[in-house]
Amino acid sequence: MSKFCPFCGEKLVDEAKFCKNCGKDVSKYTSTDTSNDEDYGYGMRVAEKSHTAATVIGFICAFLIPIIGLIMGIYLITRKDNSKSKGFGIAIIALSVIVWFFSFMTAMYMY
Ligand SMILES: [Zn+2]
Repeated sequence: MSKFCPFCGEKLVDEAKFCKNCGKDVSKYTSTDTSNDEDYGYGMRVAEKSHTAATVIGFICAFLIPIIGLIMGIYLITRKDNSKSKGFGIAIIALSVIVWFFSFMTAMYMY
């Protein structure tokens, strides 16, 4: 959201105290300095928060998806009827363990 100078109509940045076009004090026309700082800080916190949320969700997925793979693999192995599904089950478990290992290593590397 952009603000405009009440004297000349020049477009102003949110934290501007003086108009860069006419040089007049515009601080009392825009919101107060402290609330501007708070707005900026809030925006930063929100960005940081969403970034953190994405990271957390990413790690949860990285850890959960291999677990789902592991469960599916075990399910396929425990089926007695089909030897082919047993082979797929072993492959899925192996793949899950590899993915899990790499996501775990990445998590360790990040910290
Ligand atoms: Zn102006």
